[in-house]
Amino acid sequence: MSDRRPTTTTGAAPTEVPTRVVDALHAAARAAESVRPARRDGESVVESAEDPSHEGATSAVAANGATSAGRVARAGDGPSSRGPVDHVTAPTRDAVAAVLVAAGADVRRDEPLARHTSFRIGGPADLFVAAATVSELQAALRAARAHGYPVFFLGGGSNLLVSDRGVRGLVLKLGKPFDFVEWEPDDTGASLRIGAAVPFKRVVAEAVAAGLAGLEFGEGIPGTIGGGILMNAGAFGGEIGRVVTVLEAVDESGERIELPRERLGFAYRRLTLPTRALITAVRVRLERGDAAALAASVADAKARRDRHQPKGRPNAGSIFKNPPGTFAGRLLEEAGLKGARLGDAMFSERHANFIVNLGHARAVDVKGLIDLATRAVRRLRAIELEPEVRLVGEW
Ligand SMILES: Cc1cc2nc3c(=O)[nH]c(=O)nc-3n(C[C@H](O)[C@H](O)[C@H](O)COP(=O)(O)OP(=O)(O)OC[C@H]3O[C@@H](n4cnc5c(N)ncnc54)[C@H](O)[C@@H]3O)c2cc1C
Repeated sequence: MSDRRPTTTTGAAPTEVPTRVVDALHAAARAAESVRPARRDGESVVESAEDPSHEGATSAVAANGATSAGRVARAGDGPSSRGPVDHVTAPTRDAVAAVLVAAGADVRRDEPLARHTSFRIGGPADLFVAAATVSELQAALRAARAHGYPVFFLGGGSNLLVSDRGVRGLVLKLGKPFDFVEWEPDDTGASLRIGAAVPFKRVVAEAVAAGLAGLEFGEGIPGTIGGGILMNAGAFGGEIGRVVTVLEAVDESGERIELPRERLGFAYRRLTLPTRALITAVRVRLERGDAAALAASVADAKARRDRHQPKGRPNAGSIFKNPPGTFAGRLLEEAGLKGARLGDAMFSERHANFIVNLGHARAVDVKGLIDLATRAVRRLRAIELEPEVRLVGEW
């Protein structure tokens, strides 16, 4: 336990963190160290963020947990701390993998998800597929559904905290064929059809270069367009939901669907879909703007990020959503959490609403800091912080 003692930034005097914070950090560290010996049936949660569009994943895990009891080897040299727990989904995994292989998909077992998250944290996915075609996606979703096997949709992994034990089920990502942009310019602007795997930053840069307004707020937002839509990603007063006209997706039964704007519930850092679905493309409408004003707005966004956000350390952007009328970062700073550290996870000294991975942070370290901060702000200001980062996998 002594080597995992919570402390301040390397080299800083421990007295810089208020005593109450240090006490709470000790409690969080103890909680983080108590690893459960084994999972009970139905205990897992694939994604804990309360998102109606993801309810299916949670219930599917519970169903698996109740039905079978195989055992699976450890992921080997991955970053996972998953132990040899009873693995209740092994026979189902084999059945789903067999269907995927028959459909031509490149199926990986026990893929370390730390390779796919901006935090560089996360244990193995039981099955991992980067789908190369819509028909592969359909096959994957149909097989998973037929076997009651949970599926998690992975974008760029820039808003996720994946547990050290990893994800029980299939992690489905969109491959290269979903990285395309089709342009339809007209007199007043352009309509774009954008594949969900396209990096958000690239669309922003291309739109601004073409003199189109509506996405310049997105300068510096990592991840994919698909993840950006699901999170209704935004910054500096803008958000992507405002320019969306139609979503193309594949639902859980493997059907291709189109969802017009009227059926989409965009809200602050969330999107509620009428049905759980993997977004494959989005159509947006952008109006012609003033090229100089657009360039200035991008430069301003970049300068603000450079000034305030941590650099060079893996992170997942803002940890908490801003509560109404205030800023999460300000509340965390007031609670004395800037620089507070658990293991290799630390609240950034540049911006308290970022947790950075100093090298070998584990998900439990980050989760310990999240829990600590939630309690500290509740005690200090009676405000309930809500995580923006999504907790994924088996905790
Ligand atoms: C340095 C940094 C700065 C950031 N700044 C901002 C910011 O200014 N504003 C902001 O809003 N966010 C910010 N973020 C957070 C993050 O980049 C955004 O939330 C981003 O839009 C997430 O996209 P992603 O592709 O990485 O999604 P992921 O993190 O992979 O997934 C996020 C959610 O979307 C779902 N999802 C992903 N792809 C799909 C799909 N195709 N279909 C259905 N569901 C899908 C996932 O299941 C998950 O629930 C920042 C992150 C970092 C690391």
